[in-house]
Amino acid sequence: MDRYRLPCTVVPTRYEIELEPDLARGKFTGRETVDVTVRETVQEIILNAADLEVRTASIRSECGTEQNALVTLEEAEERLRLRFPEPLRPGACRLSIEFAGDLNDKLRGFYRSTFTAADGTKEMLAVTQFEATDARRAFPCWDEPAFKAVFQVTLLADEGLCALSNSSVASTQPIPEKGKVAVAFAPTIPMSTYLLAFVIGRLEATEPAWVAKIQIRVWAIPGKRQLGAFALDAAVFSVRFFQDYYGIPFPGEKLDLIAIPDFAFGAMENLGAITFRETALLVDERAATHTELTRVAHVVIHEIAHMWFGDLVTMAWWNGLWLNEAFATLMEVMAVDAWKPAWGRWDSFGASRAAAFLTDGLRSSRPIEFEVVAPKDAEAMFDVLTYEKGGAVLRMLEQYLGPEVFRDGVRRYLAAHQFANAETADLWKALGEAAGQPIPAIMDGWIYRQGYPLLTVALDEAGRGLRFSQRAFRYLEEEVEGDCWQVPITYRVQVDGEIRRGRLLLSGAEKCVPLPGRPDWVVVNQGGHGFYRVRYAPPLLEPLLRAPSEAMAPIERFNLIGDAWATTLAGMAPVSEYMELTARFTEETDRHVWMALLASFGYLSRILPPALRSGFESLVRHRLRVIVARLGWIPRPDEDDLTRQLRGDILRAMGTLGNDADIQAEARAFYAGYDAATLSADPGVLAAAIAILAHAGGEGEYEAFRARFKQARTPQDEQRYLHALAAFRAPELVQRTLISTVNGEVRTQDAPLLVRDLLVGVHSRERTWAFVKEHWDEMERLYPSLSGLARMCEGITALATPLLEADVRQFFALRTVVLGGKILEQYLEQLRIAVAFREREADRLAMYLASDRPGLAWITSGVPPAGKSEVGPAPSGTSNTSPGLCRRPGF
Ligand SMILES: [Zn+2]
Repeated sequence: MDRYRLPCTVVPTRYEIELEPDLARGKFTGRETVDVTVRETVQEIILNAADLEVRTASIRSECGTEQNALVTLEEAEERLRLRFPEPLRPGACRLSIEFAGDLNDKLRGFYRSTFTAADGTKEMLAVTQFEATDARRAFPCWDEPAFKAVFQVTLLADEGLCALSNSSVASTQPIPEKGKVAVAFAPTIPMSTYLLAFVIGRLEATEPAWVAKIQIRVWAIPGKRQLGAFALDAAVFSVRFFQDYYGIPFPGEKLDLIAIPDFAFGAMENLGAITFRETALLVDERAATHTELTRVAHVVIHEIAHMWFGDLVTMAWWNGLWLNEAFATLMEVMAVDAWKPAWGRWDSFGASRAAAFLTDGLRSSRPIEFEVVAPKDAEAMFDVLTYEKGGAVLRMLEQYLGPEVFRDGVRRYLAAHQFANAETADLWKALGEAAGQPIPAIMDGWIYRQGYPLLTVALDEAGRGLRFSQRAFRYLEEEVEGDCWQVPITYRVQVDGEIRRGRLLLSGAEKCVPLPGRPDWVVVNQGGHGFYRVRYAPPLLEPLLRAPSEAMAPIERFNLIGDAWATTLAGMAPVSEYMELTARFTEETDRHVWMALLASFGYLSRILPPALRSGFESLVRHRLRVIVARLGWIPRPDEDDLTRQLRGDILRAMGTLGNDADIQAEARAFYAGYDAATLSADPGVLAAAIAILAHAGGEGEYEAFRARFKQARTPQDEQRYLHALAAFRAPELVQRTLISTVNGEVRTQDAPLLVRDLLVGVHSRERTWAFVKEHWDEMERLYPSLSGLARMCEGITALATPLLEADVRQFFALRTVVLGGKILEQYLEQLRIAVAFREREADRLAMYLASDRPGLAWITSGVPPAGKSEVGPAPSGTSNTSPGLCRRPGF
């Protein structure tokens, strides 16, 4: 028998669960009656339980005979073995168990979250987080996704507290002798244990909104419910959107969105009772930056997408988790884009894809789907490859099949498997029926093989055709064996002034496509949906860069920069060439394109030898000068949200990466005039000013920001000031922030992220790394398991000096650190890439920064220097008439 899988000899159909938490003592007791079907004669029942004390267990058969069980808890396997004196015959039985446990503080299973009420008293909530396998810490159960059952929950809550679960309240019964109320909830639809939720505490709700008969509310601790309005709007829109897209009504009978002060993840898609960390649900629309607002929209809508895909139809086992998450990621972007088209969310998805490209270009990457033996192996699936790569390859497939065909396939799949479980192959089958073609032939390479292709595009010998070739992309040089990917290529080409679009499926190593003449320019990966990188041969790159701005959409420019930067990091091109490329984009006005540029500047700033810093800062100032002058500090009334956010991003980069003294002085003046009470400032500019003041500030600003963090009015404000604390450069301030990560001042849900920021900071990383080594055991004990440490350790990728790298490797070689899957290996490989890049390119970067007319790189690579937006004086005024690549009309 598999020690990780429960036998199917006895299966549950319905649970009646009663739980009584004691918030003050941090304990709970419970009892349950489970209707089970005995499928073959057995003498024992095996189910899951962990960290529970099981007091009694008995079973009653259909004919009324009752037997007590001999109870054995198998700690390592997290199983409960119930042995009965007489065999159980096939048929229906009722199993009754009484148990007790602790309300832990590790943010998993059944746990306690705390907050300080308006009158200063400390209050507590009892909360659950079960995915993947922590329902067994709250009640004995068949804790595998395939064992779907109906749940009927009763919570014994203290009088005056609110109790929430997946379904609506069926009855409340006061129990005066206990000072409690028994809140009984209606039976759920058949669902998996990991989707069950209970929340008990002092909570308040928004006024409900309705979509047909579905009541939707946002819940928060007292004083915060007014921050739920935006999420409520997003929820109402998306429930309608998904009902329409999926062609199936909302699967629950109500929908509560609940903000929890201590929460290990972003959110959890419990059917009808979605839980969130506060910053992913509660927001003041007037005071939030575009980035903060879109985060709430995305998380809320992602979780609601799961109500059908994940909750109504569920993976049969944890290897299918990727599909659950990848699909919700795809649907999240699709629905947010439908809700707010002006936000350009498919362009923003380029940034998500870029994050997946980064991890998947490592030799320590993994295939999207892999065999999961022990359930804990599934923890490794909650990463960028599952969500972002998975979402990106599904988007590629959707675009390849066509959106209507794809949607029809999804509808077939959901209709066929609702209230039950399904596998990846079932979705492929449904999509294949809708599309009339076999899906596995296209998708298997993307799902079962790690990595992705680098596509090289060149002119054929006659100059009248395009030659596409593919090979695996890796940052660290190595031979990669394996078949080619089936690459759905889309391109746009201009020949003799006429624009043509083309598509092909590249299944071999190389393919040529004839053209009617020599192309003026060609854009490959049109629309940017493909999960591959593109490298243009020099005779194709230069014409593209010189083409008019309309030639490339923002996402295509974003990809051009991202791909050029990746090939630079991988050693396929010198850094000077990339730096020259960035000089072509000083006229750029698209926010997403700037995000790609700023990300690469941030990376360079981290690997820079100290002697090069001031030269690099002046280069950053040069690249940003035009856009800073254009945007200024004051938003114009007719501006769109993306431009407002761009202003914040650009000012922040100028004041920090560019270390610009004028901008820092302006930030100081701006902040001095800011009145928190009247929300007098543009949120994007305010967030930038806070970041700049932290970078340039001292003790005075530090203490002011710390006070603001503690008295923040919104979760976003709190996070802004908290993370600003990590940007102060004075050693004694770094030390003060470090101490706050282990002394309870910062919540354990946030502390690992703060340490990560400090590890990434050029001025704080040495001190922080020493602190982490010294406090490792303490952090391991305090922070939410796996997720907390894994997030914190992401910061080691920025310890990009040879000395630090050696020390990091030694540290992890000497102890057993479990971060889930290959996460640690991936971080160490990223660190290796950064240090190798530094060693390889430092001299070239120094030469480039020292030269007064950068342009050598283009000559060495055989491409002539650009004519127009090269390093030179900034254009005067805003009416630059040169045919710039990156000017959007109408700006
Ligand atoms: Zn999800």
